[in-house]
Amino acid sequence: MTEKKKPVVACPQCSKDVVWGDESPYRPFCSERCKLIDLGQWANEDYRIPLAEEQEDFELPGPGLPQ
Ligand SMILES: [Zn+2]
Repeated sequence: MTEKKKPVVACPQCSKDVVWGDESPYRPFCSERCKLIDLGQWANEDYRIPLAEEQEDFELPGPGLPQ
């Protein structure tokens, strides 16, 4: 029994435990999904600034609707 203990971090997106090793290619995120969500939030922040004024009165469709 010489198994090394790998460090575990919390996914920044969903706070799930993520083993810091080769089995977690998306670390510090637990999955590609969480990584993409995080990147998406950054992108949305960028878009929100120029579009905020134009779309003030525009009601956004709910999630899941095709665009
Ligand atoms: Zn996650």
